[in-house]
Amino acid sequence: MRFRHILRADQFDRHTLDRLYALTNRIRKKRGTRDGALWLRAQFPHRRAILYFLQSSSRTWGSFVAAAQNLGMDTLDIRDPRVSSEVKGEASLDSIRTFSSYADVIIMRVNDKGLAAKAAEHMDSAGRPIPIINGGSGPDEHPTQACLDDYTLRRSFKERGGIDGKTIALVGDLKRGRTVRSLARFMQHYTGVKLLLVSPPPFAMEKDVLDFLQEHEIRYAVTDNFDQAVAEADAVYMTRIQDEHDTRGESAGVDFSKFCFTERHLKILKPHSIVMHPLPRREELSVSCDKDPRVMIWRQERNGMHVRTALLLRVLREQEMEKRWGGPLPKHIQDQLWLLDSA
Ligand code: ASP
Repeated sequence: MRFRHILRADQFDRHTLDRLYALTNRIRKKRGTRDGALWLRAQFPHRRAILYFLQSSSRTWGSFVAAAQNLGMDTLDIRDPRVSSEVKGEASLDSIRTFSSYADVIIMRVNDKGLAAKAAEHMDSAGRPIPIINGGSGPDEHPTQACLDDYTLRRSFKERGGIDGKTIALVGDLKRGRTVRSLARFMQHYTGVKLLLVSPPPFAMEKDVLDFLQEHEIRYAVTDNFDQAVAEADAVYMTRIQDEHDTRGESAGVDFSKFCFTERHLKILKPHSIVMHPLPRREELSVSCDKDPRVMIWRQERNGMHVRTALLLRVLREQEMEKRWGGPLPKHIQDQLWLLDSA
């Protein structure tokens, strides 16, 4: 896989993920020591990231800023569209083109689901060597969240044979929840996984993802029986109603109360199963469950910074090497890049 633009979950292959998570583990360790943290900070002090985040965000924004700082980078935030020239009628692609003059990488979160891909094409056709990283594209995709969720699943199942053969319940607003849409696609990298797609019928998983699952022979069952899914699953991945995407107040008419994880569910959950949530949460995951060690949400959230540091490091390494090489790297040089940071 070329580490240039990170736009969709299906860009990643298994081998790349294995190496990305190995790099993530090394970065975690390095950050734990003064020498290691200083080494990391010395990698890209001459580089700047722009965070073009027009949708609200706490974790993706914060963890990307922290990831960039871990690598010694400067960051520049564009977060409030009311004070940008888009108010004067400037097209988003013109804004992004402008930002590309000030930065080496653009991380973006916007409501328009196709804008990150358009921005990437725009950079390529303008000959600007600026990687675009999708930090959430409307209700469609959230590929870097899928990386940290997958990493969390792997670590949680390390002693239990990994993700292969596990049953994973994706619960909530599957129709408009970009995290579950991206994570479902990642399951193509494992064998024998079964997905339980648990939602109120109006928020069922969309056909494009179901087609993907079928095409990649990933078993799934669509259900609204939450209790049964909790009893069966090795991982229960909760999500909230994504009502910011309502166009006609759709969420108000849906009874979500049956899709809330409470202390009662801790008793149904198997002893080695885990509970995840991309956050922010509302009533769908009761705060009183947090004390149970099977509830992984805060570890999952912390993993975000480590995985995103590894992603940024790898993207910037490839960018530097491509500049010297004069274009996309042959596979053997790409392989060497992973080795660069293996010590
Ligand atoms: N933070 C995640 C996202 O940006 C999940 C959510 O907002 O519900 O998609």
